[in-house]
Amino acid sequence: MPQRSIWYSLFYQKCPRCREGDLWRSSLLPRFRVYDMYETCPSCKVYYESEPQVWYGAMIVAYIVSSFFLLLTAYIAFGILDLPSAQGYALILFVAVLGFMLNARLSRTLWIHYMIAYQPDILAQQAAIRQRLAAGAQVLDVRPRKEFESERYEGSINIPLYELTDRLSELSPDQHYIVVSKTGNRATQAIDILHQHQYTNISNGGTWLALSE
Ligand SMILES: [Zn+2]
Repeated sequence: MPQRSIWYSLFYQKCPRCREGDLWRSSLLPRFRVYDMYETCPSCKVYYESEPQVWYGAMIVAYIVSSFFLLLTAYIAFGILDLPSAQGYALILFVAVLGFMLNARLSRTLWIHYMIAYQPDILAQQAAIRQRLAAGAQVLDVRPRKEFESERYEGSINIPLYELTDRLSELSPDQHYIVVSKTGNRATQAIDILHQHQYTNISNGGTWLALSE
């Protein structure tokens, strides 16, 4: 996978982590679905909205961007073109309405690139995990039981993270485990626990969604 620049990713509105999958489900025009974003990246499966308040920062970016453009329009209308005030305000209003939708997407795109770091090799890592899976590794899913029961990768076993220390004896030392969770954060914590207890025959699978292509 060739490395892609941040500019490529911003311009084409790609996933900040892999710069491969799209952020938006549909193009902005002609249906005017401003916030039609995928829940997870179609390629690397990173969660775009990691927590509900994630877009507050994007709102601040949107205010800054729109203030800049409205002030610029006001300067052009009154300072350069020297329009009468009714026409000047009409122009500003026109730019505000037109710019709103573009700005809403642009500011979310900028914000999410600030929140989620680029991992150029993520797709290659995920392909390697799937190869291990095909070679007989066992998936250990550490999400809470309810989440696991509602949806999981076929053939996974479930030991919730908070039970892991008490249930280590259920793991076979000869088996290779691929540890997964919802976003991958709990999987990383579980790996730390397993390492502390001398289990090294394990890999970090990140989000369980990435197990199937
Ligand atoms: Zn991605």
